[in-house]
Amino acid sequence: MSEYFRDIGSSITTILTGMGITLRHFFSAVKRKGDAGIDDDNYFSQVDGLVTLQYPREAIPTPEIGRYRLYNDIDDCIGCNQCARACPIDCITIETIKVTKDDLAVCGKTSGGQQKRFWVPVFDIDVAQCMTCGICVSVCPTECLYHTQVSDFSEFKRENMIYHFGNLTKLEAEAKQKKLEEEKKAAPAPKPKPKPAPKAEPETGS
Ligand code: SF4
Ligand code: SF4
Repeated sequence: MSEYFRDIGSSITTILTGMGITLRHFFSAVKRKGDAGIDDDNYFSQVDGLVTLQYPREAIPTPEIGRYRLYNDIDDCIGCNQCARACPIDCITIETIKVTKDDLAVCGKTSGGQQKRFWVPVFDIDVAQCMTCGICVSVCPTECLYHTQVSDFSEFKRENMIYHFGNLTKLEAEAKQKKLEEEKKAAPAPKPKPKPAPKAEPETGS
């Protein structure tokens, strides 16, 4: 009989403890995340806050250290293709055109002072495929490719998920390609390599 009443007491204690936790969260939930709401810099270090946000008018901020939508600062891109080669799912497409000698100054240097030797008319990232692994970012020698804090970029059309960063229009690219071919034609033909001297025949004894 005493065990019967002990079990009832234990059940009531468990229910009250559970309800206490629920009520504590219920009352905490009416508080905003800090005085500044979701824009508060310390958002992630706070314990209590809203359970529901008025999305999309309100959105939880993305952490500074995170991997979200990629961006290429094309002015610093040297068209080395390393990012595209490293991408495990081939969602980066790059086309380059070698810069002619008289265009080197026009093409310019990266912010780190490196002379750019390739135009990059096509630099496309298919963010619908990108799994934000960050491998491309880690291999970029000029650090022009990086993850932004933009995490919400849904689109109605599939083609809008391909981001274009190229630094030439189609017409400009055609003109640069033509110029490069003319430079190649005008270049003096490379001197033929001297033929190696024939090997002396080994003398045979008679
Ligand atoms: S983050 Fe990963 S999947 Fe996305 S483009 Fe870079 S290497 Fe490819
Ligand atoms: S690795 Fe960097 S510099 Fe090289 S093509 Fe990619 S974005 Fe440009």
